[in-house]
Amino acid sequence: MKDEARNACTPAQIKKQIVEISKIMYDKGMVNAFEGNISVLFQDKVYITPSAICKGFLTEDMIVTIDLFGNVVEGEYKPSSEFKLHLAAYRIRPGINSVIHAHSPYATAFAVANKPIETKAYPEMIALFGKVPLADYGTPSTDEIYYGVEKHILDYDVILLANHGVMSVGKDAYEAFFKLESVECIAKVLLLTNLLGGEKSLPEDKLNILYAMREKGKVQK
Ligand SMILES: [Zn+2]
Repeated sequence: MKDEARNACTPAQIKKQIVEISKIMYDKGMVNAFEGNISVLFQDKVYITPSAICKGFLTEDMIVTIDLFGNVVEGEYKPSSEFKLHLAAYRIRPGINSVIHAHSPYATAFAVANKPIETKAYPEMIALFGKVPLADYGTPSTDEIYYGVEKHILDYDVILLANHGVMSVGKDAYEAFFKLESVECIAKVLLLTNLLGGEKSLPEDKLNILYAMREKGKVQK
């Protein structure tokens, strides 16, 4: 992807990005009509996918613009019912400009089982994310949805929502999507590893190198 594609600097370009990423995520089975939502924060406005419209069939005019209190300022459609999760993330964590929430099957399986995604055997997971913590359950579409997230959002870019799904944040929508995609892939590998008898841990000295990488944010993919 060319850098220009990521440097959206007008509302029209941001809507285009959201539609593009929605389609990719739909094709990958990470979102659908009723599950998942994508938003971008730009100049005190949040551009978000509409409620109950399939993410594979979105067009730019369907993207809803809301203010930081959740009031619709532009758009014919209702914003995603989980907009409060997005607004809370922007409020709590400065510097992020996109939030993506998905019900991608493998990460969501960990969330439904109430198990954080963590490993001592998969270097990318350790060095890139540390772990993916599990936020306490909150009823979808209510204020409760973000209560559990508050505890983790400053330290982790990807968070499981107990009995619900997964969310990620990034400096732009592509970054948030790439992280979510990576975590979904890792969740799949770890689940399959369990079918093969469980993971084979790396030795402590090798793990320490990965922990240091995570701390320094040295691993860039
Ligand atoms: Zn959801």
